[in-house]
Amino acid sequence: MSYLLTRLLKNSSKLFEVLTIFGLILAISSSLFGYVSFTYTVQRGDTLSAISKRFGVLESSLIDWNNGIDFLRLKIGQKIKILYPEGYIYKINHNDTLYSIAKYFFTDPLSIAMANGFTTNKVLRVGEEIFIPKNIIGKYFNISGKLIWPVYGEISSPYGWRIHPITGKRQFHTGVDIAAPEGVPIFAPLDGVITYTGWRSGYGLTVEMQSKDFTFRFSHMSKIDVYAGQTVKQGNIIGRIGNTGISTGPHLHFEVRYRKDLENPLAFLPTTPFKYANLPSNSKGVGGN
Ligand SMILES: [Zn+2]
Repeated sequence: MSYLLTRLLKNSSKLFEVLTIFGLILAISSSLFGYVSFTYTVQRGDTLSAISKRFGVLESSLIDWNNGIDFLRLKIGQKIKILYPEGYIYKINHNDTLYSIAKYFFTDPLSIAMANGFTTNKVLRVGEEIFIPKNIIGKYFNISGKLIWPVYGEISSPYGWRIHPITGKRQFHTGVDIAAPEGVPIFAPLDGVITYTGWRSGYGLTVEMQSKDFTFRFSHMSKIDVYAGQTVKQGNIIGRIGNTGISTGPHLHFEVRYRKDLENPLAFLPTTPFKYANLPSNSKGVGGN
């Protein structure tokens, strides 16, 4: 055995193989809890789609992991962060518990605890980061309506005529506001194609999406994980909750058009976000455009 090892170590290409295998074992063992992060260097001809296929991860995941990288204009030599297993980092906010976080990811607290190597009694500190593997996300999506809920939260402002929370004027609210903490994931309510990403006056960071007869708008986001032209599947992450544009606190403005007509999103959503139970949540009392 030691003779073999010596032989292997004498040969640099074999050494590389040994290190690769060792690295893989290390990656697999450490991925029992949390995740491993490694760096990929952009090669000539690389595209977001090619890197996504090579590593078997969603394009949206790559965008989520890499702040400040313009994936539509990749440069040779750029460093791309890859997480293994595929999943998302969530930064703890005030009042978050393992139970509330489980709701935001439509999963159960035990799966999150196990993925992070702690128990469900764990006390979470504000600012601490936890890891949510993609394979536990969406267990409890309620698919009984036409759409799934794009985010778990409290409806802080309904669709229709209202007094605007900031301007104080009577105004038609074109969507529903769903309050949730900053950084909570937003999921595609159906399969579809992204038609717009960027800043919309008053609405802040916005994503628009086309899906058969539906058009969706998601606003006030803190982070956009998609690009115009991208195909997404129901339940894929499209970005994170934020407080951009005219807004009094972190929430999602979710707007639905059905055959071009503005409609109340609640008409197409299941009555509860969850498949099995309507779990209670605290009202955040925030709104905006
Ligand atoms: Zn709104």
